[in-house]
Amino acid sequence: MPLATPPKIAALSIALLAHTTCVQAGTGPKAISAHARAVQAQAINLDTHLDTPALFSQPGWKISDRHDAAKDGSQIDYPRMVEGGLDGGFWVIFTGQGPRDATGNLHARDAGLKRLAEIREMVAANADKFELATTADDAARIKAAGKKSVYISMENAYPLEQDPSLLSFYYKQGLRMLSLAHTQHNDFADSAGMGKAPDGEHGGLSEKGRALIAEANRLGILIDQSHASNEVFDQMLALSKAPIILSHSGAFDVYPHSRNIDDARIRALAAKGGVIQVNSLGGYLIDTGATPEYRAERRKLYESAGDFDKLSAEQRAELKAKFEALDTKYNIRKADFDDYMRHLLHILKVAGWQHVGLGADWDGGGGVLGYEDITQLPKVVQALLDAGYSDEQIKGILGGNTVRLIRQVQALADPAAVKAALE
Ligand SMILES: [Zn+2]
Repeated sequence: MPLATPPKIAALSIALLAHTTCVQAGTGPKAISAHARAVQAQAINLDTHLDTPALFSQPGWKISDRHDAAKDGSQIDYPRMVEGGLDGGFWVIFTGQGPRDATGNLHARDAGLKRLAEIREMVAANADKFELATTADDAARIKAAGKKSVYISMENAYPLEQDPSLLSFYYKQGLRMLSLAHTQHNDFADSAGMGKAPDGEHGGLSEKGRALIAEANRLGILIDQSHASNEVFDQMLALSKAPIILSHSGAFDVYPHSRNIDDARIRALAAKGGVIQVNSLGGYLIDTGATPEYRAERRKLYESAGDFDKLSAEQRAELKAKFEALDTKYNIRKADFDDYMRHLLHILKVAGWQHVGLGADWDGGGGVLGYEDITQLPKVVQALLDAGYSDEQIKGILGGNTVRLIRQVQALADPAAVKAALE
């Protein structure tokens, strides 16, 4: 049984479906000004949730090749990062939540270590294009060297359930951000679920979750709340000695989905110096009209595809066509660029520009009509200029705020714990 089932079912289908070619209202700026390009060139452009490592083990897939989102649904690779001006970001070790027994925990441990190795192998095999980033200063240094930054993050701490002390090993290997739970509760924390929030299991964080946060603080690892419940948010904020991040989240007051965060909590996050990075997963941005019947059929279709990590480009294209047919059958509404900007601009107003950034969930379900892959990042810059944001503010949103947060969190680490982990 594939461990990562069902990893991001909503995600995958939306990613695969967001790619149609018709030009229509809502797809954003039609032209990018020289000013917008200049702002982006001066900024450090980081996305804090890149799920692309899930593609690294797919047969024939190479980060140095240019891919077509309309054909295989993929959204990030080196040529397209260059075109879109993305300087790097946090590359995710994602593990779908499975059984929380000894066998499940061991499978998760292995899956996490395998994905960690794949990320490091990608960097080693493309050393002229990518470099592992572990400190705040690395982002600017690596950009100046003409390369892309690879910070490593973990989405869902399931690989640590067996042995949480593995965190120091991950730290030594480059891990700098950690989320506790994904779409289901686990030993560490309650999840926000995938729509209607489920009843909590721990009432927020478990004791084991609290201990993991304390250890992350000691090591200077960013704590990521995305996907966890509101109670987890409140407890993380109270407990963490360092400001926290929401690596890919949206605004509940724009669209009330359990995965989004409300204005009061956004203000509390900002008041403690944290940042929220805005997600572009369509099902979290708008009501797509998805019914339980549609979701059940989509889940069946996804499960029939087997292990997503092993699909070839042709198999992905086939799956994409099937998802498209399903969406047509159920008349599913697709989010567009304007829907994305509605969340981003709302969050900017509530949090203040110093506390906002981009975490579009590329290759993990992100992407909407008019914002299909990373080549379209300049549209966000143009839209922010059009909305009246200054160059300085936009540079913060594109990555400056994330760099500041990394610096703050690492400054609050315990030097002895860091030294011991690196030995
Ligand atoms: Zn996610």
